[in-house]
Amino acid sequence: MKTAVQIDFDGTVTIDDVSFLLLDTYVGSVWREYLKEYSSGKIPVGAFNKKVFGMMKADKKTMTEMVLTSERVKIRPGFRELLEYCINKGFKIVIVSNGLHFYIEAILKSLGVKGIKGLEIYAAKNDFYPGGMKVAYIGPDGAEVEAGFKEAYTAMLLKKGYRIIYLGNGDSDIYPARQAKYVFATDQLLKRCQAEKLDCVPFNDFFEVIKGLENLSLD
Ligand SMILES: [Mg+2]
Repeated sequence: MKTAVQIDFDGTVTIDDVSFLLLDTYVGSVWREYLKEYSSGKIPVGAFNKKVFGMMKADKKTMTEMVLTSERVKIRPGFRELLEYCINKGFKIVIVSNGLHFYIEAILKSLGVKGIKGLEIYAAKNDFYPGGMKVAYIGPDGAEVEAGFKEAYTAMLLKKGYRIIYLGNGDSDIYPARQAKYVFATDQLLKRCQAEKLDCVPFNDFFEVIKGLENLSLD
C-alpha cells in the first residue's frame, strides 16, 4: 500500500510558530485579538489567517531575512533524518500548512531540503504587492477554501489510495488526524487526541517519530 506522511509546519517542523513571529514583528499585538476570535471558534482558520497576514506590510525580502536570521525560528531535531527515512522507505512527504508559502519555502531551502524528490508543499499562497500581501488558500481542486485546508489535502491523498501518517501540533491538526491511519502528536494536538481517545504516538523530536515509524508494520 502507498504511504504518505502529512506534516504540519509551524510548531511541528519548527518548534515555535513562524507566522506568530512575523505577526508580532510586522503587525503588532492587534492580531492577537483576531487570534482570540479564531481560538474561540468565531472565525475559521482560513479567514483568520487571511485577515491577519493581510495586515503585514513589509516586503518579501525583509520578512524572509528576518525569518532566516531570527533566534525564534528553530527546527525540531531530526527533521532532515525523518525526510531521509521517509524517502528511503518510498513514502510521499506532504507538508500542508495554514502558514505562508514564502517562509516555508525559504526555511526548507536554507536547510537544503527544498525540492528533494518526494516532498510536496501546500500552504497559503501569498502574493506580494507594494504595501501589502494578498493571501489565498487553494484546495487540491484549484478552488479557494476558507476552512478545512489541511483535511482537504488529506482527503485528496486518501482518494489517491494513500495510507496517511499524520504529524502535527495544533488544534487545526485534529481534522486531518481523524482521517489518518497513524498519528504522531505533540502539544495541543496531543491533548485533542487524548480528549477524544484518538490513538496517537506522542513526540518531542523527529528521532522519536522515526523510532515510532519503525515500530509500525507498514507493508
Ligand atoms: Mg502547527
